[in-house]
Parts: sequence; structure tokens; C-alpha cells
Amino acid sequence: MHCYYCGWRFEVSARAQSTSCPKCNRALMVSDIVVQKLSPVSSVQTCGRVVVKRSGRVIAKNVTAQLGVEVLGVMNADVASTGPVVIGPKAQWKGRCVAPTVVVNKGAQIAGYFEITGKAPSSSEGVESPTDAADASG
Ligand SMILES: [Zn+2]
Repeated sequence: MHCYYCGWRFEVSARAQSTSCPKCNRALMVSDIVVQKLSPVSSVQTCGRVVVKRSGRVIAKNVTAQLGVEVLGVMNADVASTGPVVIGPKAQWKGRCVAPTVVVNKGAQIAGYFEITGKAPSSSEGVESPTDAADASG
């Protein structure tokens, strides 16, 4: 997993709910965060997923999720995800969103700046395309 503060990459046991970064020593949430009611916080950060249920509301400045975000209720935050974002049919979204892929179901209300990076989560790096055949003779 990655530390969402400093970007340090390290191993963590699969059963851990939370851990701390060996590099910057800050506490990290590992497990998924499921929001079922109003959750007025300044930031939501996890190395897992953030799930906002139908009855859930997240009103925050920043949301960071490494494995993805699923919103069925209300999301009112600037969201950065390195996993896919899914916005359900009755969801309301207000704020920025940066994610590799975004699925918006019909009927969802969204407002904000969406940046879809198209990058898959960094499991397969080093994919090369064979188009680099510049011929500079002349
Ligand atoms: Zn760190």
C-alpha cells in the first residue's frame, strides 16, 4: 500500500484495520470506510474504499481513497481516488473528483470538476507501446 501523506510504499498485513507509515509515522486507515449517516468531517482518508450509503452524507474538505469510492447518498467534498469511482442513481455529488475511471448512473446529480486520469491502479507498470519508431535519418 501507499502512504497517502508521503507516498511511501510498504507492506501491511491484510488483517490490519489501521497502521502507521514507517516513513513519516502518521496513522493510516487501511480498511474501507462506510458512511451510513451524516458525517461532517474535515477529511476522510483510507488505503481502502470509501462507501457512502443511501442514508449517508459526507461533508468534508477532502476525501482520499486508494481502492475506490462508491456513493449512493451525498458526497460533498474534493475527492482523489486511485481506484474507480461509482456514483449511484440517487446520489448527489458536489466537489472535485480525480479518479482513473468514473461511472455515473442515470439520475445522479453531480456538480464539480471531474478529472478522469484513465490510469489503472499501479499494478502493471511499464507497459510499452511499439509506436516509438522515430526515423531521424536525413
Ligand atoms: Zn508516510
